[in-house]
Amino acid sequence: MLTPEQNVVRRRRLVKVGQEISRLGFVKGTAGNASVRADDGFLVTPSGMSYADMKPNDIVHLDMEGNIRQGRWLAKSNTKPSSEWHLHQAIFEARPDVNAVLHTHPTFSTTLAVLGKPLPAIHYLIGIVNGCEVPCAPYRTFGTGELSEIVVKTMGDRHACLLDHHGLVAVASDLWDALELTIQIESLAELYWRACAMGEPSIIDDEEMDRVCAKFKAMNYGPQ
Ligand SMILES: [Zn+2]
Repeated sequence: MLTPEQNVVRRRRLVKVGQEISRLGFVKGTAGNASVRADDGFLVTPSGMSYADMKPNDIVHLDMEGNIRQGRWLAKSNTKPSSEWHLHQAIFEARPDVNAVLHTHPTFSTTLAVLGKPLPAIHYLIGIVNGCEVPCAPYRTFGTGELSEIVVKTMGDRHACLLDHHGLVAVASDLWDALELTIQIESLAELYWRACAMGEPSIIDDEEMDRVCAKFKAMNYGPQ
């Protein structure tokens, strides 16, 4: 059970990461959402609220069935969890190694997602997702159980997944690692876009990417 101090620290971190994704331009307006595990459920950013206005009290505590467990934190009766809470719940359920989920719509990553394309190994750093590419999950309607299901399936044991015609989700053992991963993936997606503008980049083969992933694991590099 989280102490009130631990609870408020996690709420503040969610607000801070929301402000960061907004500042970095990874979301426009109120889009995107973030969560961390808390007790037998998770804390998730609220629906339809600007990150500039968000306060720790606005973060919603849900159990794994999606019931609100605000306790003394209930600030406003109309505060609703992010419409993508199903996605966060499904990832926490499927991935015991994950403690934080960050969903954004960064321009270059989402450009690939709009084309329904994965981000291939055009650079060895792709290995930080624990695989040879960032896969792209087929399109499903936002906020649905169908979307959660297909993302969990497509992501497998990797740390990130593109969502066709939608955006990006990054997962980690810690919220800052999920943000760092999002920053790295967006930078690699931009690099891919630039390389494609000048030619056809070659892709690092799977055997070499297995070696890179093993090396990252041994170094504890990237999200754990
Ligand atoms: Zn979204």
